[in-house]
Amino acid sequence: MKIKRIEAYQVDLPYAGGVYRLSGGRTYESFDATFVRIVTDTGLDGWGESTPFGSTYIAAHARGVRAGLEELAPAVLGMDPRQLDRINDAMDMALMGHHHAKTPIDVACWDVFGKAAGMPVCDLLGGRIPGKVAMISSIGSDTPEAMRANVARHREMGFMGHSVKIGAEEAEGGPMIDAERIQACLADRRPGEWFLADANNGMTPEHALRLLSLLPEGLDFVLEAPCPTWRETLSLRQRCRVPILLDELVQSEEDIIHAIDRDACDGVGLKISKQGGLTRTRRQREIARAAGLVASVQDTTGSDIAFAAILHMAQSTPRHMLRQALDTRSMVSVTTAAFDAPLQDGGAEAPDAPGLGVTPDMDVMGDPVAVWEA
Ligand SMILES: [Mg+2]
Repeated sequence: MKIKRIEAYQVDLPYAGGVYRLSGGRTYESFDATFVRIVTDTGLDGWGESTPFGSTYIAAHARGVRAGLEELAPAVLGMDPRQLDRINDAMDMALMGHHHAKTPIDVACWDVFGKAAGMPVCDLLGGRIPGKVAMISSIGSDTPEAMRANVARHREMGFMGHSVKIGAEEAEGGPMIDAERIQACLADRRPGEWFLADANNGMTPEHALRLLSLLPEGLDFVLEAPCPTWRETLSLRQRCRVPILLDELVQSEEDIIHAIDRDACDGVGLKISKQGGLTRTRRQREIARAAGLVASVQDTTGSDIAFAAILHMAQSTPRHMLRQALDTRSMVSVTTAAFDAPLQDGGAEAPDAPGLGVTPDMDVMGDPVAVWEA
């Protein structure tokens, strides 16, 4: 089987909640998504998506995905899409880094592989672990009471995990308001619920230490991505008793090995396009597993196709290490594909259909913005 044609599509995905706010005053209202369709000489095709979380989240941006595809697509034309490590080797030879550009090709190849084998992608990634995967809520920064109410709304919908966004600037209330936000969100905590306080790399160690000193003992939560650099993170780590999960700092196998070597964290946030596709996310998951780290499986937003990749990865991740997955569909107001994995009681299960199990809506996709042919 050979890749004979690669098509790229572009779709704007408005944020479903109006304005999404992250630490440091960053705001997002719409996400620029790139989709890749791979067509083989057998007639089978596969789809992948890469939607960076704006240009200020990590070193990834939407036009960079499409510029990267210009370098990558010619390198994989003619290759067997089922040979995923070889596909990734060829992409690495054509372009260093740029995980967000490699992701839609990698994911589309997994989709083809699954269709060719007659198996869902989760089975190819190690095997389905039956049952629904629990999804995490995303509680944007707001007043403590508004955030408490938002947690309650998600609790009513069945969510057992909540990602609470913190990292207020001093003028906004700084560590004091962050401490109030965490306490408000945990105030009605039920047994089995899991809370992240996610600063998205937006705090100094000084901010984090002041915040932690303001909290009473015994609050059960994990601090996610407190600081923007390894130095700051390691400094905080030595002086803090709260478990730490790293996200933006961990983007590759090397980063996970570095985190383990320095004992920098207790868990990692695996985002499919941040880690470089399903092939690399699986490698990083296995390294994390061997080190006894927990993991969440997410992406840097995205629509139905990004969620399909997330769900197949999460569905094959051992439950003892899996700390929730993200339903990116709930973040955007556009549906790009039919994907039979409804959200029920805060969870979803990957379908049994071969491949990812997605059927893209070609009216939404429109005409390709680029085509490469062997
Ligand atoms: Mg995060």
